[in-house]
Amino acid sequence: MAKTKRGKSLWNTPSKGRGTCPICLSTRIKLLYSATNSDGKTMPVCKKCSSVNAKTADKAVSTVNLGFRGKLRRELNRQKQTV
Ligand SMILES: [Zn+2]
Repeated sequence: MAKTKRGKSLWNTPSKGRGTCPICLSTRIKLLYSATNSDGKTMPVCKKCSSVNAKTADKAVSTVNLGFRGKLRRELNRQKQTV
């Protein structure tokens, strides 16, 4: 079986398999695992967050317009706290 979570195959995936995790907001982390929220919607998350329950997944924020900058991450963390 091909390794889907490591090695050269990752380099062919969009953004090389990396991005910002919508749950823990880690930047440039590998998003190769998925979490399901209470709506049954799945989203790509990092390894750490692959085992979160639906309640935690509900708190995930959109990282679509999020860059890899710490400034944006701080902003997002603030949003998370107020909600
Ligand atoms: Zn995560």
